[in-house]
Amino acid sequence: MPTPLQTAGPPHGGFRAEALYPQTLDCVHCGLCLSACPTYVETGRETSSPRGRVYLMRGVAEGRIPLGEVVVEEAYLCLGCRACETACPSGVRFGALLELTRAEIEGRGLRRGLAKRVEAFALTTLLPHPRRLRRLVSLLGIAQRLRLDRLALPFLPARLREVHAQLPPIPSRAERRALPERIPAEGERRGRVQLFVGCVMPELFGAANAATARVLARNGFEVVVPRDQGCCGALQAHAGLDACARKLARANAECFAREDADALVVNSAGCSAAMRQASEWLGAEGAAYADTVRDVAEFLDAVGVRPPGGRIEARVCYDDPCHLVHGQGVRDAPRRLLAQIPGVELVPHADPEACCGAAGIYNLTHPEMARAVLERKLAALRAADPDVIATGNPGCLLQIARGAARAGLRARIVHPIELLDEAYRAGG
Ligand code: SF4
Ligand code: SF4
Repeated sequence: MPTPLQTAGPPHGGFRAEALYPQTLDCVHCGLCLSACPTYVETGRETSSPRGRVYLMRGVAEGRIPLGEVVVEEAYLCLGCRACETACPSGVRFGALLELTRAEIEGRGLRRGLAKRVEAFALTTLLPHPRRLRRLVSLLGIAQRLRLDRLALPFLPARLREVHAQLPPIPSRAERRALPERIPAEGERRGRVQLFVGCVMPELFGAANAATARVLARNGFEVVVPRDQGCCGALQAHAGLDACARKLARANAECFAREDADALVVNSAGCSAAMRQASEWLGAEGAAYADTVRDVAEFLDAVGVRPPGGRIEARVCYDDPCHLVHGQGVRDAPRRLLAQIPGVELVPHADPEACCGAAGIYNLTHPEMARAVLERKLAALRAADPDVIATGNPGCLLQIARGAARAGLRARIVHPIELLDEAYRAGG
């Protein structure tokens, strides 16, 4: 009698099996990914491991396992951190498999509930529409300043109270102001880059976007910030909303094709990882767009930065965003940049490449797992006791800042590019 793994049959029609099935065969069941997987480490369950999930996906593709409760639960319990891809010797592209599986689940309407509705509203009705997002964030800012949000809290359902607890303080209007469309290069000109500013970044991390533009200009690059760029589609793709993700990627591919530039620079790891996959979403149309994408640290490290004149006396822990280290293989560039700041002492911590538990709205859908994963990260950071924690992704910045505040860590949390910018500005 063959074992379940020997019953491999042809892809089962209906499920996005033609694309998924051959990739599931890359898994040789070695288990080397298990210890890298946060959900396996927490639960010890095979089905909550990368190997177990690939087995479920393959079973569904072959028509042996129903696309039902267990598969749906495991597909969304997964953080999508892609640590398993780094650990895997067999080249399993887990992130792509997960997106296909979630797209099928969404396509069949197998997820329901308030968290799902909040997610769908945010991803399809808010993030792709910068004006709507801006108005909502402005209203939230006013409510926070007048403390109206706190007055309304007792009347909100528990899930919305959770949403409120995740909200950071809304930055001032000045910090949220749009960047100029063109920023001239300083000193001897070295080229021209386009800057992707993202959807959430201008509203919550405008300071990091401004710092990115200043550092690029300071290093001799003219910075072009196209006005009609939009959301990259990463969060939509991770949530299984593949049609929406493709539409957004196509619009950006067209927008950024209008200008000749040396690179399309991105300071949000989740966005750059998704933008680099555009050829998979859009075919040849997306390939040129994907090829120009560079994470800001990767770009600056490759071209070489002008020495910062100012000093920052600080012990700095760099924490790797999953979608930078596992999604793009960018590990050393941010550390090399930070090490060039006079006064900065880079201090290692025990778990820099582990997920912090951010993962979109994972805090809302899986609060207990998100808390457990974050606690591991905080324990490692607490032991290192840095003055500054630097990480280059908005979700990670929010998650670590929230956890650090709750845990009483004294470190300030910044994007690495903000430290480099501070050093330039301190140098005059
Ligand atoms: S993406 Fe992360 S959480 Fe999901 S299976 Fe891989 S290691 Fe585990
Ligand atoms: S490391 Fe790769 S091949 Fe080995 S079990 Fe995990 S996913 Fe499969």
